[in-house]
Amino acid sequence: YRAKDARSGHHVYVSDDDTHGDDRLRTLEELRTALVSDELILHYQPKVDLATGDVHGVEALVRWNHPARGLLYPDAFLGLVEEAGLMPELTCLVLGQALDQAARWQEQGNPLTVSVNLSASSLKNADLPERIIAMVEARGLPPHALMLEITEEFLMADREKARAILGRLRGGGIRIAIDDFGTGYSSLAYLRDLPVDELKLDRSFVMPMSDDTRAAALVASTINLAHSLGLRMVAEGVEDAAAYDELVGYGCDHAQGYHLSRPVPAAELDLWLAERPLPAAAAQGAQVYEH
Ligand code: C2E
Ligand code: MG
Ligand code: MG
Ligand code: MG
Repeated sequence: YRAKDARSGHHVYVSDDDTHGDDRLRTLEELRTALVSDELILHYQPKVDLATGDVHGVEALVRWNHPARGLLYPDAFLGLVEEAGLMPELTCLVLGQALDQAARWQEQGNPLTVSVNLSASSLKNADLPERIIAMVEARGLPPHALMLEITEEFLMADREKARAILGRLRGGGIRIAIDDFGTGYSSLAYLRDLPVDELKLDRSFVMPMSDDTRAAALVASTINLAHSLGLRMVAEGVEDAAAYDELVGYGCDHAQGYHLSRPVPAAELDLWLAERPLPAAAAQGAQVYEH
């Protein structure tokens, strides 16, 4: 259903015959409206610590609550956002919402680190690091409340610029993750010299792991290499208990995926956090207290 939705969204804006030209204009107009209304919302997906079961961080993922078409996923509209040159506006809006939510969690005594995705086109924005740091400070948040997820595409587009921007962000205490790791052309040797905290192993490696020993071997050895370079590894696309257990066995640090939780609105995430069984470490502590 979702893929179909995404495809029809794509159809609207790539076509250039007259009828679709009108559609495209309308969609662009709708997008401009969405950027100044409350139609763009964030869902949050937890990252679970595989050693303890704790949740210290969540990823913010944008959705468009379209008045006529319902809830749209990023694949259906981020292409248009890029094409229309509106990515700086979207990034600013997403960062603002994500940091407001991080401040709410902080106030509630649950200081979660929020990860925000940064597109490769953000490299064009020369004062981006300073603006992001100012947004974090304006909310009284510590810099480690924010993590930015960039792709290998971001790194490879302009290595010097990428390195400079990451250096300034990291200098300000903001954390950096490499998203969809393994799908691009960057090598671990290149990453070794970059100011990066976390690698997110792409789900195309994680999902086939349980039925394919070669895929599993690739995942296990990538985790070891990352650790030997002092990087934390997060596995994306953890869809079942078998994958979860296998990753625990490989010493992977964190897991994210439908097996744990789909991306959900903040209120739903709060419920999920409150209702889930205590992580093993905390449960042990509680037992000691009772006896
Ligand atoms: P991503 O950053 O790699 O985010 C992970 C995607 O995988 C999300 O899709 C998430 O819903 C999906 N996912 C999570 N767990 C599972 C699982 O167990 N199985 C499977 N099959 N999928 C899983 P979503 O939300 O549709 O986002 C797609 C992409 O759109 C993101 O990929 C990211 O690149 C981009 N994106 C999302 N929000 C933003 C944003 O605010 N700004 C920018 N620039 N890009 C964004
Ligand atoms: Mg991401
Ligand atoms: Mg990813
Ligand atoms: Mg991805």
